[in-house]
Amino acid sequence: MGLLETRCSQDTAPLAVDPLTLGEIVENGLCIGCGLCRSIAGPGGVEMVMTPEGRERPVVLRALDKPTLEKINAVCPGTRIAGPPADGAALTDTVWGPVERLVLGSAADTTVRFVGSGGGTLTALGQFLLNSGRVKFVLHVAASRSMPMRTERKLSFDAASVLEGAGSRYGPAATLVDFNAILDRGEPFALIAKPCDITAVRNLARIDPRVDEHMRYALAFVCGGASDLTKSEQVLQRFGLSEDELALFRYRGHGNPGLNRIESRDGRAFEISYRQLWEDEDKWMIQPRCKICPDAIGQVADIAVSDAWLNGGPAVEDEPLNGIIVRTKRGLELFDAAVEAGVLRIKRESGIAEISELQSHQVRKRRAVWARLTGMGIAGKPVPFVTDLALRDCALQNSLAENLAEGRGARDRARRGRLGEPPAVPRVTILGDR
Ligand SMILES: Cc1cc2nc3c(=O)[nH]c(=O)nc-3n(C[C@H](O)[C@H](O)[C@H](O)COP(=O)(O)OP(=O)(O)OC[C@H]3O[C@@H](n4cnc5c(N)ncnc54)[C@H](O)[C@@H]3O)c2cc1C
Ligand code: SF4
Ligand code: SF4
Repeated sequence: MGLLETRCSQDTAPLAVDPLTLGEIVENGLCIGCGLCRSIAGPGGVEMVMTPEGRERPVVLRALDKPTLEKINAVCPGTRIAGPPADGAALTDTVWGPVERLVLGSAADTTVRFVGSGGGTLTALGQFLLNSGRVKFVLHVAASRSMPMRTERKLSFDAASVLEGAGSRYGPAATLVDFNAILDRGEPFALIAKPCDITAVRNLARIDPRVDEHMRYALAFVCGGASDLTKSEQVLQRFGLSEDELALFRYRGHGNPGLNRIESRDGRAFEISYRQLWEDEDKWMIQPRCKICPDAIGQVADIAVSDAWLNGGPAVEDEPLNGIIVRTKRGLELFDAAVEAGVLRIKRESGIAEISELQSHQVRKRRAVWARLTGMGIAGKPVPFVTDLALRDCALQNSLAENLAEGRGARDRARRGRLGEPPAVPRVTILGDR
């Protein structure tokens, strides 16, 4: 790949000399549909399509030359995942990475707190960045206006627009589909996104100086995985609705976690609880890349924000609250300024033990990923080149038997093709499909 840093600690081996094609990235289950390759190859080179499985995936429109493929392999979060630079954070935990400060808190504004996914912290920070003149716009996502079950990238230039994007969008979201054009604007901005989106942009920063010049802040949420659109379609089926009837599809928010609310164009409304939405793990339909995610906890963000259900889970409506993991000095300065300005409120300090309890599934995943990637490699599948994420050290927190079970499970699933995906093709015409 020609871009290997010499001082990094390698969690997995570099990919082979020849770059993977986009088809190989997708079919080996490494793509999360961020859209950055489309932005690099340009609209005439790569297009994002919604596949029959309900995933946004790149499709090559004209053959990509080797330098373009090499660049894509260097930035794609399916092929290259680098952890944070070691720059002396106040605390570095094997599982949780760098931490400058860890608190439980929320937006101070009652509307933001209510509308936001958990406690509205990310929305409040996005609004503060704009209101304080630190950035010109925020790049994030929101429900599509024409097809509200789908998610589109959104540029917000004012606080009201940031609020419109509040809430978690569990389906596919190609946040970076036109990232190159965003850099071309030459204006300071902030990114609020999934950890893998931020991984992709940090990868790009190594070869495109405009990223560090213009992207002033990168804020992430702690992420359990992005589901297929077919997961959302199952909810519609429950109510006998079709996608073209929809006026609103909100996954959560308007409370913590709030209800999954659907409104039809003819004025009907349907609701299910967060627990009903996620009750059957077999039907979560989490994308393959998420199952091997080395950094779903936003180690490369300036601030990463999680849920914080102090009652043991989202069984009932909880108080609006987030875990706020401040990761960098830049993030700390922003956090302190937002608290000082009365935009964020702190409930209390937290710590590694508490966040590990609140996010036990993230701890399990961090400890499992090294063995899973090793198992995939033994099955002869390409695995992402991962550095500086302490995957081996996390695995050492498991017993040998646990690692063997994870590794063998992944090896066998990979051999059976269960970790891969079909080739990306667009869905055949469904009313309103892009
Ligand atoms: C797919 C997914 C999985 C998650 N898994 C976990 C988990 O395992 N543990 C946990 O603690 N929290 C998880 N969350 C995060 C949690 O739901 C909250 O989003 C988080 O706590 C921040 O809350 P908030 O109130 O500050 O967010 P808000 O103030 O509502 O802001 C959320 C911001 O995230 C952006 N956003 C929403 N969805 C996406 C998306 N799919 N891609 C890119 N940007 C998006 C929005 O545009 C908005 O700016 C997940 C969220 C998503 C979308
Ligand atoms: S993860 Fe992003 S950059 Fe990589 S192939 Fe998928 S859409 Fe392209
Ligand atoms: S689990 Fe990882 S790969 Fe999947 S959406 Fe979240 S950050 Fe991205």
